[in-house]
Amino acid sequence: MMIPKATTVRLKGVPLKKLVEAVYKRDNHECIICGAWVEDGVKPHHEPQGSRKSDELDKMVLLCMRCHHERHSGKKSEEIRLQVEKYLQGTRDRP
Ligand SMILES: [Zn+2]
Ligand SMILES: [Zn+2]
Repeated sequence: MMIPKATTVRLKGVPLKKLVEAVYKRDNHECIICGAWVEDGVKPHHEPQGSRKSDELDKMVLLCMRCHHERHSGKKSEEIRLQVEKYLQGTRDRP
């Protein structure tokens, strides 16, 4: 029997590329935590991460290498998670 779980989107190829471009555009090419410039080709962070991650605009944010590392394995992981969630909530509320 299958265990029901939240639907997640997994994209690849051109649709994924377009989505990543949209994330860069929305976040002005900047890390949403510290404002650092994010180079092209850096993969956006997924929130939630792990098995519940989903390739959707409101579940992805741009983080610089440092903040991204901090989110995944740093001491401030929880703090950054809350900031990311708050940020994404704000983008959802926009008309
Ligand atoms: Zn940063
Ligand atoms: Zn990440």
